Amino acid sequence: MEFDRILDGDPQGEEKNSDQSLRPLGFDEFPGQEKVKEKLQVFVKAAKKREETLDHCLLCGPPGLGKTTLAHILANDLGVDFRSTSGPALHRKGDLAAILTSLKPGSIFFIDEIHRLSRDVEEYLYSAMEDFFLDIVTGEGLGARSMRFQLAPFTLVGATTRAGLLKAPFRDRFGIVERLNFYTKESLVHILTRSSGILGVDMSEDGAMEIARRSRGTPRIANRLLKRVRDYAQVHGDGSIDSKLAKFALDQLEVDQLGLDEMDRKFLWFIYEKFGGGPVGIETLASALSEESDTLEEVYEPFLIQEGLVQKTPRGRVITETSKLHLESLGYKADS
Ligand code: ADP
Repeated sequence: MEFDRILDGDPQGEEKNSDQSLRPLGFDEFPGQEKVKEKLQVFVKAAKKREETLDHCLLCGPPGLGKTTLAHILANDLGVDFRSTSGPALHRKGDLAAILTSLKPGSIFFIDEIHRLSRDVEEYLYSAMEDFFLDIVTGEGLGARSMRFQLAPFTLVGATTRAGLLKAPFRDRFGIVERLNFYTKESLVHILTRSSGILGVDMSEDGAMEIARRSRGTPRIANRLLKRVRDYAQVHGDGSIDSKLAKFALDQLEVDQLGLDEMDRKFLWFIYEKFGGGPVGIETLASALSEESDTLEEVYEPFLIQEGLVQKTPRGRVITETSKLHLESLGYKADS
């Protein structure tokens, strides 16, 4: 898609940098994901007690839920160096070798979108993950020689929105596998209250709840909406956010009561109107919406499914009664 969606969980524009200021630095500043947090804290304490490196760790879940943030928190808590890259950025084995050979002992090495590593690079990682060594080939053709290089022990933290795409031998090399879920509205209110404090915005609890309700259970979206609502508060009010102002701003931003934007509504509407409510295959839907099927599956569907607006059946996607009622309440009318 060419335009930035306000409800996209991926970072947009200046957020790639400004996310930093709102990013919690420790577990105690990270509301939500209680079970995952509890487990990670135990694993960190145990690793510290044994004076060992933490086991490799795979964090799964939709974008914007805090995978990168947790990787940073792990490094802070362990008091170790943090290096990061992403699956698509590691083109060649040499890129990976350059990073791995320069890691300090105990470092956290974070790979975002780890499901997008090339097969070559992925397989090259295996020996590094298992026994902390790499076979490095120097020279070419007949003169090529292979040298075994011992690495400093490190913890690989992988983040993925598509855990199902990881091959079993790769997945099995992670001792810790955790899945992050969408946040409750109450956790999002905590996050928004903390963020408004950092941004210096005066916000009432019901104002925060209004934003939380429409944030698709995703902290990155909650923080983004907070910044946009703040703009409306400054232009249309005295700068402070209460529920009336938040409702007004979110309506202007076309984020509806269920936290859906135009693209979500279009997604539901296509199934309803063009495909008689479904079932319709994801590829057919993707071409009707001029969108990648991966994007539909990774970005749109998880929330729509969790909210009971769409069901995934063996024969394709079906929209639910709740969905139809929601669309009709907004004035959409099916011909059939
Ligand atoms: P992911 O790696 O899963 O896409 P990030 O860790 O980059 O998500 O989180 C996106 C933004 O959302 C971060 O800048 C951070 O400010 C915020 N965030 C995520 N999880 C939390 C949380 N539990 N508490 C507070 N802020 C959070």
